[in-house]
Amino acid sequence: GKGNWKGFDERDLLLTYNALKVLEARYLLKDPNTLRYIETPQMMFRRVAKHLANVERQYGRSESEVKQLEEKFYKIMSELKFLPNTPTLMNSGTRLGILSACFVIPVRDSMITPNGEGIYDALRAMAVVHQQGGGTGFDFSELRPKGDIVASTAGVASGPVSFMRIFDVSTDVVKQGGKRRGANMGVMHVWHPDIEEFIKSKTGQLKDTQLQNFNISVGVYDYFMQAVERGDVVPLINPRKTKIADWDYYMSKARGYMNEEWIQEVILSELEEKGGTVDLAESKIITIDEALVIAEKENAITQWVNARNLFDEIVKGAWDSGDPGLLFIDTINRRHPVWYLGKINATNPCGEEPLLPWESCNLGSINLEKFVVDGKIDWDGLAETIRYAVRLLDNVIDANRYPLKQIEEATKKTRKVGLGVMGLARMLIKLGIPYDSVDAVYLSYQLAKFIYYHAFKESIEIAKEKGSFPAYDAKLYKDIWESAKDFYEILEIMGIKDKPSDYVKKLTSIVDKLDFDKLKEDRIKYGLRNATVVSVAPTGTISIIAGTSSSIEPLFALAFIRNVAVGKFMEIDPLFLDYLRKYELDNPEVVKKIAETGMIGDNPFMPKSMRKVFRTAHEVSPEYHLLHQAAWQQWNDSGTSKTINLRSEEPPETVERVYMLAWKLGIKGVTVYRDKSKSQQVIYFGIKK
Ligand code: UDP
Repeated sequence: GKGNWKGFDERDLLLTYNALKVLEARYLLKDPNTLRYIETPQMMFRRVAKHLANVERQYGRSESEVKQLEEKFYKIMSELKFLPNTPTLMNSGTRLGILSACFVIPVRDSMITPNGEGIYDALRAMAVVHQQGGGTGFDFSELRPKGDIVASTAGVASGPVSFMRIFDVSTDVVKQGGKRRGANMGVMHVWHPDIEEFIKSKTGQLKDTQLQNFNISVGVYDYFMQAVERGDVVPLINPRKTKIADWDYYMSKARGYMNEEWIQEVILSELEEKGGTVDLAESKIITIDEALVIAEKENAITQWVNARNLFDEIVKGAWDSGDPGLLFIDTINRRHPVWYLGKINATNPCGEEPLLPWESCNLGSINLEKFVVDGKIDWDGLAETIRYAVRLLDNVIDANRYPLKQIEEATKKTRKVGLGVMGLARMLIKLGIPYDSVDAVYLSYQLAKFIYYHAFKESIEIAKEKGSFPAYDAKLYKDIWESAKDFYEILEIMGIKDKPSDYVKKLTSIVDKLDFDKLKEDRIKYGLRNATVVSVAPTGTISIIAGTSSSIEPLFALAFIRNVAVGKFMEIDPLFLDYLRKYELDNPEVVKKIAETGMIGDNPFMPKSMRKVFRTAHEVSPEYHLLHQAAWQQWNDSGTSKTINLRSEEPPETVERVYMLAWKLGIKGVTVYRDKSKSQQVIYFGIKK
């Protein structure tokens, strides 16, 4: 019974079989000599809580205050209301020091550089981050194109894609010894001369062989998307040949999200350090046309291509293999609260963290399912959990042991944290709201707003005690809610006429009372602890530990086969099983039949009420996938990771529509995955293959 065994706790019984399997395989500490477990799941939560509460000592908190906070941290984790990202769970209080999941590493056009930003410096940084369970993102656009000259050797450059292959192999090698497989994001901006090779680097014959440890994304700009719509040509630019150090910098500047002050103070001083560029020292805000004139004079334009054709290639690739995705570089930078620190060119592997060079971010997610009580939302409980979660995440920055000093410096300058969610789909089911309904999108929108408000508020509270993040500038900091699209604007872009019901409006009416003007006043008065506070991560593993649906995704399938290292398992969604029991339909024959397709939407033998709410990823139209992503992105100062799942039979035109709409909806990045488009996929529908 309880209390008889050291470390036994009834809270362990909250963990599902799958959660225990995941925990024992990777998370619970073992004695390195005997390989015996030296902790239980509760001891793991305790280890993390203690380690992160201990940070408070540095800030002069008393012993009892530290202990109290440890109890709060322990409580929200052990009740599975909140979990930090995998590296925090695995590494807190151990010899390995990385507690964050997301990193962006710069890659300059040199083998190595004195300040450690060359191609092989990046490779080295990647290896140490992967070893400890972090994921890395890179923008390869600064590398000179294939066939270009290499002055020092009078040789010929092999181009960015060939270097990416080295990063890929290194990832493979390091994962053998590491705690989890390293993941990468490879970005190339649409103006690079090698863009076509990049777009095709993971499709067709190469899709199951090349760059398997990379997600790839094309960095696109408003000017490019507009050119696609109009059928215009766009230039390809050789980054080596232009004096404009970062060519697209100026393309973006021309579209006005950077103000004059910033250009004077930040860009120019930065350029001076780098050696300066005459043309820009003289210009203020240059237009795209002016930038082109400069590039032309420099002979940096290698070619003019039809934007439409390039876009078609991107769409074809994504339809065929899921890669490339798009990153909307202008949207990312326009809505970056600390835009005055420079331009963001890349994200972490799954896209939820657009970061400056060398920045890292630690994540954690709230389990929304736990906040449905008697058919209502426990808003007070949610707000309280948000508060402790933000404090915990902020402490992770101090508890982290950074593998490289550049990462430590960049991370501590902005102190970005990313509070996200999991269990949205299950929350919806418990509230009786179908995922693909206007009500569900409205709920997403309101939840995102509520979580952002309370996370931001807590970050102000922490700033009162511990100070603002060092790069905080009360005047320049941009409040992202001022550029959040209205809910009805989102519906309009999508061409949806339905309105949310009174039921969901009443359910979320508390959100309408939040006072963002007051929040801004407080920020200006007291400061802010974290440059960003939220981020919607995929929660691939922590949602299994929490026993809920992942992130903001719909259920994948009600019953399906999961391919894991040790074999194939048939899985039934436990919430679905509860409902089957309620209708006395929980017999093996029924379940087996359902597992053939994984869904019940068009099964006339299933109760109507169940068919309505148990919607799965491939039954939900791409429009509703996008709507949820758009709703969460409006109240998010980082990114929203989401897969727009498509049925196998969807044509390329669907991908085209999805990519265009994503841009218009103000989403920061978009990825599609068409069922069965790759031979290796982690989850398959049905038992009939
Ligand atoms: N990540 C990684 N390798 C993996 C899974 C995730 O490096 O195998 C990183 C990556 O940056 C990703 C982030 O962790 O974007 C968050 O992923 P997720 O939410 O799925 O992680 P979890 O905390 O659930 O393990």
